[in-house]
Amino acid sequence: MNPKKIIITIDGFTSCGKSTLAQDLARELNYLYIDSGAMYRAITLYFLRNHIDWTKSGAVKTALKNIELEFTFNPETRRSEIFLNGENVEYVIRDLVVAEKVSEVAAVKAVRTFAVAQQRKMGKQKGIVMDGRDIGTVVFPKAELKIFMTADIMVRVERRFKEMFARNPNITIEEVKANVEMRDYIDSHRDVSPLRMASDAIELDNSNMTKEDQLQFALDLARKKLRA
Ligand code: C5P
Repeated sequence: MNPKKIIITIDGFTSCGKSTLAQDLARELNYLYIDSGAMYRAITLYFLRNHIDWTKSGAVKTALKNIELEFTFNPETRRSEIFLNGENVEYVIRDLVVAEKVSEVAAVKAVRTFAVAQQRKMGKQKGIVMDGRDIGTVVFPKAELKIFMTADIMVRVERRFKEMFARNPNITIEEVKANVEMRDYIDSHRDVSPLRMASDAIELDNSNMTKEDQLQFALDLARKKLRA
């Protein structure tokens, strides 16, 4: 095994398949996978459950003091799962109720400061693949390998619809499309850490790629960096 360890960042629009690629890559390289979006989703869930008004900075500050986030690897699913104050919320944070509010919450400066500090700590030892929106631009601007994913909007909507329909058969494709478009808009237009491609990132459009193709593409890049 290569003793050299690097940081790999995967950013991009909603439902581009970032987490699938990041997980596959982490498994192949024996790296830690961190889903930064899960952190923003878990914080949103806490705010919703506790009726926290995230437009009020005092309320946000107090609430963040009561939030503890932790990732645990589940050997059965081979996924890392997020815990909010000791509760496994990996499944519930994928609900549309959370998806509808998460981009608003993620645009709050104090929320980002809180999440970014923890993300940087997790990357201290390197050997990590992290996906999100600002990982290559803000969290790890010096990461050795940065990938920026894109895909055709309808391909992304159909992927997300399939995922959400399996959990909630009442959901419509229009609802999913509206949510994907709204999140992309807020994520790319917010003042703090908007979604941007880092100038040194490599773009990957996976509209017509299989899961295996995209993994091979990223693995080739990672191995090149590891040899360098
Ligand atoms: O990746 P996922 O779609 O689960 O992320 C949920 C939301 O969290 C995004 O729409 C975005 O608003 C926010 N997010 C962010 N920065 C990140 C990761 C996610 O603002 N690094």
